[in-house]
Amino acid sequence: MGKWINKSLEPSVSPDSPVSVNHVEIGDLARLADGTVDNDERERLLRHINRCQRCYEILHHTLKDAPSAASVSHADGPWWKTKAAYALAASIILIFIISGQLAYKYWSHIPKVISATLDLDQNLKDILLEDDALRFGKGARLNRLLAALQQTGLPVKDLNLAVLSKPYYQKKSLFGPAEVLHIRIENGVAYLEVQEVE
Ligand SMILES: [Zn+2]
Repeated sequence: MGKWINKSLEPSVSPDSPVSVNHVEIGDLARLADGTVDNDERERLLRHINRCQRCYEILHHTLKDAPSAASVSHADGPWWKTKAAYALAASIILIFIISGQLAYKYWSHIPKVISATLDLDQNLKDILLEDDALRFGKGARLNRLLAALQQTGLPVKDLNLAVLSKPYYQKKSLFGPAEVLHIRIENGVAYLEVQEVE
């Protein structure tokens, strides 16, 4: 396990997380529109609906039909059973579809940036030394980097690209200054910078 000198991390949501193959059931959609699902379930349902046109359409219609039903419920009902809340919910769902990933991140309060400073161990060095390309996309090298980062405990699920700030050369002396790897992962892109430390 690498040692984290500093960290600010949250689980990342990769842009191409697989869409759940299970469509949301009609009953669940109705409960979602009704506001009777708990937070976890709402998040799960919205995650799917955010990416699934079919389920979105169904929910959209459910929400459109809901206000008339809501308006006959008693006045001291929960705040979300109001026309305004339904309209708001409908527009939130619409925003999900329009801005997709970004809105999903906002909704689930997951910061989209991971940054950390790692000890530059031999495994990471090997990956940096493997090739002198400063940018590398999907492939064996990126997979090794991803695996190495995950081994350190970073909550990174996927990478599309890695960008090195400058070429990395093996230090001649074993007794040279120690090195750390600054890493910042944003939108599936890992920005890497090696720095010597006293
Ligand atoms: Zn679906």
